[in-house]
Order: sequence, then structure tokens, then C-alpha cells
Amino acid sequence: MNASDKTKLVSLVIPVCDEETTIGPFLTGMAEVLRQVEAYGYRVELLFVDDGSKDGTLAVLTAAIAQDARIRVLELSRNFGKEAALTAGIDAAHGDALIPIDVDLQDPPEVILQLIDAWEQGYEVVVGHRTDRGNDSLFKRQSARWFYKVVNAVADTPVPENVGDFRLIDRCVADALKRLPERRRFMKGLFAWVGFRTAVVDYRRAPRAAGTSKFSGWKLWNLALEGITSFSTAPLRLWTYIGAVVAGLAFVYALYIVFRVLWLGVDLPGYASLLVVVLFLGGIQLIGIGVLGEYLGRVYLEVKQRPTYIVRREHGGE
Ligand code: UDP
Ligand code: MG
Repeated sequence: MNASDKTKLVSLVIPVCDEETTIGPFLTGMAEVLRQVEAYGYRVELLFVDDGSKDGTLAVLTAAIAQDARIRVLELSRNFGKEAALTAGIDAAHGDALIPIDVDLQDPPEVILQLIDAWEQGYEVVVGHRTDRGNDSLFKRQSARWFYKVVNAVADTPVPENVGDFRLIDRCVADALKRLPERRRFMKGLFAWVGFRTAVVDYRRAPRAAGTSKFSGWKLWNLALEGITSFSTAPLRLWTYIGAVVAGLAFVYALYIVFRVLWLGVDLPGYASLLVVVLFLGGIQLIGIGVLGEYLGRVYLEVKQRPTYIVRREHGGE
């Protein structure tokens, strides 16, 4: 790292939701690294996005502002979800480089120095690549692996595996993200979609410092659906093929019946097989309609043009 440009501002963008116990350890854990970053001649801004916390998170944050002038807090009007909170943070951050980071210290602070280093070498995006997810549950690791397999099989822009939201993005990338008009935002996909010169920094994912994970199995499942449907229309096309295959099989079966009747005469009526075929096709059709509905729902939500998030107030940063 060199200390040539004294005025560059590095913004940490930190979405928080019900993290009153985590913010303290985060600020302490961050202090040394931020001191080093400033020693290299950068200015630092910590932009917390309070994503509708119901506990004392906001009080802890406003108290922290009084201690540390580098802290800003964007208070959303309710819980909009991490993707929306990140979007709000990226929209509001002033930095020449933005670093979205989780508040639970799962993204190790030291890595920030490496991110900035690669940025100074001219990379516009520096992603943190998790080499070891031993601290995530087996379920989470397995489901993540399957998710990336499916997404990358169907999506037009590949989403890199084991890369989270923890990364550094240059101002130009943040401006590009701001220009994307879509309201339902799957950030990992959008980050990949905008492109730019990208470097990779490996790191080990740490266990959560305090508090509990906000992502249950159900929330992750929905995030996965969001990721797939927002970056690919392959699930829609799939039904054309399923329909063609089923129709083809039905035609072959019809020929078979015709010839069997011609050869062997009329068979006993097969009610059971008839019922199975009707139910099977009914089920297939419902799944197809469900997939259609998923995309129609997305179109509906986008057409309403509601904002991704609503800010109640901004604290600090004067
Ligand atoms: N988060 C948020 N809004 C939400 C859920 C989570 O802003 O609705 C924040 C949370 O406070 C944390 C980050 O997103 O800073 C990652 O959440 P968590 O650590 O619970 O996710 P995990 O690491 O388990 O995937
Ligand atoms: Mg976490």
C-alpha cells in the first residue's frame, strides 16, 4: 500500500439488523485495522444501515456516533432485508472505495488492508473469497454449493462460488450499481453482472462474534429462488421441453395402443393407469404454472416501481 493520495475516502458499508450485542465487538475489532488504514493516508467512513432493528441497535449506534465522528447511520423505516439495506448503503456512501462488510466479524478486518492494496494496483472490484467455511454449518455449506451449481448452470452471468458480499468496490462500480433500475435486488448477482476489473483475495470465514444469524433455512431458500429467477429465464424455457417430451411420450403410447388393439383386440379398461397419468400431468402443469407465477410476480413487483428501501433518518456525518 502506498500513501500517495492523502484524500481518498474508504467507506465501510455495514447493514445491521437486531445487532445491539455485535456492534461493540465490531468497533473494537475494527479499531486497529482502521488505524492502520488511516496511517496509510486514507480517510475512513463507517456507514451503518439500520435495517429496521427492533432492539437497542439504533441507540447503540447513536451513542457510538458521539464517540467517533467517522460513523454515520442510515435508519430505514422498517426491515427491508439485507439486499435492500446494502443497496441503501451503497447509494448513501461517499467513499472512493466502498467495502460492504457484515457486522458480526465473520469477514475478518485484516483482510481490508489486502482489499485496499489490490484496489491501489488498479482493480475496480476486489472480492473476498472464502477458502474455509468450516465455521458455517454443514447445511449452509451444502446448500450454498448446490445453489451455486444450479445458478451457474442456468444464469447468463456466472456468480462466483464462495464469494459473499464482502468485497471492495471502486466508486465507478458503485455508480454503475446505482444505475441499475431494478428494485428487487440480488446483490451477489448484480455485483457479478456489472463486471469491471476484478481481483480475488482469499480469507477464512470466522465464526460469528456475537448475536445470532439472521438467515434461517427458509430465508436462504427464498434468497436462492430470488437469485435464480432474477438472473435466468431458463426455468421458463424448461417447460417447453418438458411439454415436448411428455407430448412425445403420449404420442408413442397412443401408437402402441392403436397397434395393440389392432393385433390383440380391445383390452380391459385401465382405470388405475388412467388416474395416474391424469394426476401426474395435473401435477406437472401446476408446477409449470407455479414457475410462470414466480416470474409474473417479479414483473408485478417491478412494475409497481416502489422504492427498494425507505430512509427514516440519517444520523451523524455532519
Ligand atoms: N442483516 C440485515 N438485514 C436482515 C438480515 C441481516 O441488515 O434482514 C445483516 C446482519 O445484521 C449482518 C449481515 O446482514 O450484519 C449478515 O447477517 P448474518 O450474519 O445473520 O448472516 P450469515 O452470516 O449467517 O449469513
Ligand atoms: Mg454472519
